[in-house]
Amino acid sequence: MKRIGLLTSGGDAPGMNAAIRAVVRSGIYFGMEVFGVERGYAGLIEDCVIPMEMRSVSNIVQLGGTKLRSARCLEMLTKEGKQQAVKTLEKYGIEGLVVIGGDGSFRGARALTEEFGVPTIGIPATIDNDIEYTDYALGFDTAVNTCLDIINKLRDTMTSHERISVVEVMGRHCGDIALYSGIASGAEIIVVPEIAFDMGEIIEKINASRANGKHSNIIVVAEGAMSADQFAKQLQASTTYDVRPTCIGHVQRGGSPTMADRMLAAQFGNKAVRLLNEGIGNRAVGIRNNKIIEMDIIEAVSMKKTFNYELYETLQMISM
Ligand code: ATP
Repeated sequence: MKRIGLLTSGGDAPGMNAAIRAVVRSGIYFGMEVFGVERGYAGLIEDCVIPMEMRSVSNIVQLGGTKLRSARCLEMLTKEGKQQAVKTLEKYGIEGLVVIGGDGSFRGARALTEEFGVPTIGIPATIDNDIEYTDYALGFDTAVNTCLDIINKLRDTMTSHERISVVEVMGRHCGDIALYSGIASGAEIIVVPEIAFDMGEIIEKINASRANGKHSNIIVVAEGAMSADQFAKQLQASTTYDVRPTCIGHVQRGGSPTMADRMLAAQFGNKAVRLLNEGIGNRAVGIRNNKIIEMDIIEAVSMKKTFNYELYETLQMISM
């Protein structure tokens, strides 16, 4: 392939810029022309295509967000929208497309592959980490580290005043941010969309921890299970403890990517271009058991995310 395109789509995630850099520089290494599509599939439909040079991606490896910007695009769900997207690719002679985004963005890539024969490569990027075929997606590690930084600060003040902190993190259907930030911050309790919770049991656990000498508690709640405000209200209604809710919100989407996310971005971006250079499309790249992997993008999209119950049990055992 001599001409490739790339876009970032769906919710932004730290590490997207580092992946853009890796794709552009790898493409140039293989003698390809690389085109960036601004604003995801919306930009593909509206012909927002820019040539990417070696220096177009200078000084972005450390930046959160995405230089190409991102969008959600309903038109891409229609036949006309997809046809227009393909027309834009044809106009620039783009033979393969790298899509950096979450499972929705991968479905767009699958549609271009299945319905129009466009070779696509998916790079998983979503702070929610809700894509089953890969252990980690770009942005997850940075988002969890941002949550940890905030929970550490909350712990200082909650301990001083013997309070309970209810911290809401992102994750509408997937509790990975809550699970990982809960374990790594030493939270006593996590509440995730995958597991129904019982307020009575939670109160018993808090009582037991106080009887064991604890002065404060951290409860991490995923947004898909309940809001921090609502949870704190329910808990406050049944206890005499002082309960304070905090919603971390969009802060966890931004910030400079961690080493882990930058390393993943470099390897995912490079692998994606290596595949296109060999004329291979319709693949999704990822990481499993610390090895960079690739698999059929259609199969990747159809896999249902599973919850790590063993990690959840680990939290239960070490959080008293
Ligand atoms: P995040 O996990 O952060 O939400 P995402 O990539 O899953 O990221 P979505 O909003 O689900 O985000 O999808 C991004 C875009 O992908 C959509 O706005 C739409 O343009 C495109 N897309 C999603 N599903 C399809 C589909 N079935 N066919 C074509 N395009 C799709």
